[in-house]
Amino acid sequence: MTPNRVAIRFEGQNYTYKQLYELSYRKAGYLQKLGVKKGDYVACLLKNHLDTAVVLVSLQLIGGVAVLLNNRLTAEELLWQLSDSKTGLLITERDFVEKISVVSSQLDRLTLVWKETIDAVPFEEPVILEEIELQAVCTVMYTSGTTGNPKGVLQTYGNHWWSATGSALNLGIHEEDSWLCAVPLFHISGYSILMRSLIYGMKLVLHDTFQPDKVIKVIKDEKVTIMSVVTTMMIRLLDSLGEEKLPTTFRCMLLGGGPAPLSVLEQCVERNIPIYQTYGMTETSSQIVTLAPEYSIEKLGSAGKPLFPSQLKIIAADGSEAGAYQSGEIIVKGPNVTKGYLHREHEHEKYFLDGWFKTGDIGYLDKDGFLFVQDRRSDLIISGGENIYPAEIEGVITSHPQIEDAGVIGVADPKWGQVPVAFVLTKADLTEEEVKEYCKGKLANYKLPKKVYFVEQIPRNASRKLLRRVLREML
Ligand code: ATP
Ligand code: MG
Repeated sequence: MTPNRVAIRFEGQNYTYKQLYELSYRKAGYLQKLGVKKGDYVACLLKNHLDTAVVLVSLQLIGGVAVLLNNRLTAEELLWQLSDSKTGLLITERDFVEKISVVSSQLDRLTLVWKETIDAVPFEEPVILEEIELQAVCTVMYTSGTTGNPKGVLQTYGNHWWSATGSALNLGIHEEDSWLCAVPLFHISGYSILMRSLIYGMKLVLHDTFQPDKVIKVIKDEKVTIMSVVTTMMIRLLDSLGEEKLPTTFRCMLLGGGPAPLSVLEQCVERNIPIYQTYGMTETSSQIVTLAPEYSIEKLGSAGKPLFPSQLKIIAADGSEAGAYQSGEIIVKGPNVTKGYLHREHEHEKYFLDGWFKTGDIGYLDKDGFLFVQDRRSDLIISGGENIYPAEIEGVITSHPQIEDAGVIGVADPKWGQVPVAFVLTKADLTEEEVKEYCKGKLANYKLPKKVYFVEQIPRNASRKLLRRVLREML
């Protein structure tokens, strides 16, 4: 519709929708020549480049399903996801040659296609789909594997369409909008920006890696208006910004992907950063709940309200719908929610209840219907009959200026049933007493860590999410 608008800006170069289409059309021709047909699953292990966007769009043009693989996965993890998804073709790039040689030596049915040489095969006019079927699967993305093995989430065109629509109904679409993508395209946080760009006709500014100084520079010089971040990125941006202010042209910092510690949100509010806390998961094809900034002070810590037309409920332990301020499992329903996991049809009932998706997260709604996410159901600590959410304790511990990272788990206790213990990575020498002392007053007594272990590293997965199950093994 808008061929001459800028679709993607990458490494200082603008690419219009017309150019993006032409590049993707040609790529689709090569991919077709390589055997890719409508409905085929094609694994992609690619970094953030213009070429990656082109490959992803070209797969949409011919109806190939992209199975997006996280760049940080080890060879073993890649092997697991490639086997689980049963994909026969992998598009990757030279930088991953070592990992890939291990993978391909163990998976002989895998055909490798190097991004650098796709265009070396003879070109064939591609059969471009005339219509997009909203029910058709567009992408498969594996969950981060925080609570167990990753699961391949089926994301349809309809899921992506409704996710982009729900976001637009919430944030609006402004003529001058441009969305900075310094999050990975293989993750729903990045892929959803590409989809919004394709659907809205909005410029996507693509960065290959996250570099805070570069981000601040483009927000200022190129008038980027929106950016998606996870908590660690936000902390680094705050550090780099120092006393500097972001220009008023910047209208939205979308923060999601994991718990948002109160101290980080408070700093954003203090510094006038238009922060939007969001809650979502791979299964909801990006955010499903978002807090508008007019509530960022009044409802600080809340993830907000469901995006139109999605719904959310809290289910108490006895299976009834929870009342205001009563914690329970968050369940969600809506057209952006997946229809299920790849090759796990037999487990459907484990994850779905009467058309509602059971997120495995715990939270509560306040009297005005704002969601507060507390933690994963599997990580809840019950101590003397009180519920303790490890994320809250971690948020307090990591607000200490000398503490870099932390993880909290529950351990068995003869008197209380369970008590919290903390694993801490420090920047400078600290004693166990100092850490405990810091938490006093900030946390109720029963939430205070009973023991503090100093470690060299806090275990995190390829999405940089805390692996509390590994902490349990470490004990
Ligand atoms: P797996 O499902 O394999 O255990 P994962 O759930 O970490 O992995 P993702 O889909 O990447 O995989 O992450 C979604 C999860 O991230 C949510 O279910 C929730 O636990 C957490 N999360 C997302 N947003 C928030 C938020 N605002 N506050 C707290 N937690 C959040
Ligand atoms: Mg999950």
